Amino acid sequence: MAVGEARQPVAFVMFGSPGSGKGTQSKFLVQWLGIPQISTGDMLRDHMRRGTQIGRDIAGLMRAGSLVSDDLVNELVRIRIAEPDCSRGVILDGYPRTPEQAEALVPLLNGVGWFEVVIHLAVDYNIVVSRMTGRRACPQCGTLYNALTRPPLREGICDVDGAVLAVRDDDREDVVRQRLDQYEARTRPLIDYFRNTGARLLEVDASRERPEAVFERIRAGVMGIVPGLPDGLPTAQGMNS
Ligand code: ADP
Repeated sequence: MAVGEARQPVAFVMFGSPGSGKGTQSKFLVQWLGIPQISTGDMLRDHMRRGTQIGRDIAGLMRAGSLVSDDLVNELVRIRIAEPDCSRGVILDGYPRTPEQAEALVPLLNGVGWFEVVIHLAVDYNIVVSRMTGRRACPQCGTLYNALTRPPLREGICDVDGAVLAVRDDDREDVVRQRLDQYEARTRPLIDYFRNTGARLLEVDASRERPEAVFERIRAGVMGIVPGLPDGLPTAQGMNS
């Protein structure tokens, strides 16, 4: 079931440090609401995989765990949001992450009358580091797994399509620390920006629990903010099976 036809479209901004579970929670939201996930990290990796000019330009920055240019991601998101499947709303995963990106996004959403909900996944630094070193991704479909919290049914193999799981280049420990530093310096301060612009802000403790339990909190919180969403199904349990 999708977010209702007559409703104002909703942009859910998944906000949190690398390893806070943005990608995993975004996928739960997709299943619940039937609106697309826009992951700037996935879009950029896709350019690298396809060997486009953009992909070649950003490869060095991505491998070092540095942010790519605001102009580039702003443009990628602006074009993607205008596609027909986004007409009822989107889940923004990993965007915006700098003040310049937020300043591009907020007027864009306001201009088309979208409702903005920022979901802040708050997580402890040490937990993030241990999660990220156990992280594996499917190179085919992008599904994320974690040795601790979300293992695949067969070790090293994607449940969805049977591909062999891989460690992303930028999940190596030195790169992880660089990404966390960037988050502290450039991205975390955006919380104040969101507060000041009147976005609906949902704070969720994403530290210790299983991803399904975190999602239950997100769902309850979102239902308290956005009226008229489908409530009963699917359950987090059902989504796993
Ligand atoms: P994570 O949130 O775990 O860092 P992502 O897949 O979202 O992982 O991002 C991976 C990399 O892609 C980042 O380290 C950065 O190089 C680049 N990237 C993704 N989104 C953005 C963005 N909004 N602005 C700038 N760079 C980005």
